[in-house]
Amino acid sequence: MTTSANGTMCPLCGGPAAYDQHLGTTATTGYDCKRCRRFRISDQVIKRVLTPKPGYKPPLSAFCRRLPEGTEPPIITTDTVEQIIRDVPQYTPPEKLDTLLELLGKMTPALGRPTTFDPTRDYPLLIARDPAEVQFLLLELADLDLLSLRPLRTLRLCVKLLFAVSHHLGENVHRDGERDRQANR
Ligand SMILES: [Zn+2]
Repeated sequence: MTTSANGTMCPLCGGPAAYDQHLGTTATTGYDCKRCRRFRISDQVIKRVLTPKPGYKPPLSAFCRRLPEGTEPPIITTDTVEQIIRDVPQYTPPEKLDTLLELLGKMTPALGRPTTFDPTRDYPLLIARDPAEVQFLLLELADLDLLSLRPLRTLRLCVKLLFAVSHHLGENVHRDGERDRQANR
């Protein structure tokens, strides 16, 4: 396994990644990324699929990251890539809020303690495009008074309601009028 000291980038999220070289006859390269975890991907997919369709990268990253611990690293080839994309769920914004809240609960050691959830590392768990989308959702949750952001700049989070789920959010998540105000924060 080569380290990322040579500047190797993850082909799915662009972050630093360790990798190993081609394996077998299908010319796949294995990567180990803190966002996407371990996966193998063929050179053909990188050149012929991801380059013309960069929008495929976030769902592929999410697919790899969301596999259960201990699962064999997936192999992304031209034969499997389209099926993987189809299998990745598409969350609505309220579902993303719910999922984020659940993640925050799971990744918080105790009520009132900072969560270990890191938007820049963990956004694929939410099938989000990038950390900015997660930060927007965090502001939504803060506005619903379900968590506090302190200090905002480093996004150390304190989950106030560990087990809050969709029925707590109710219709509040649709308060579109709130969004403009949040965007100006
Ligand atoms: Zn990655």
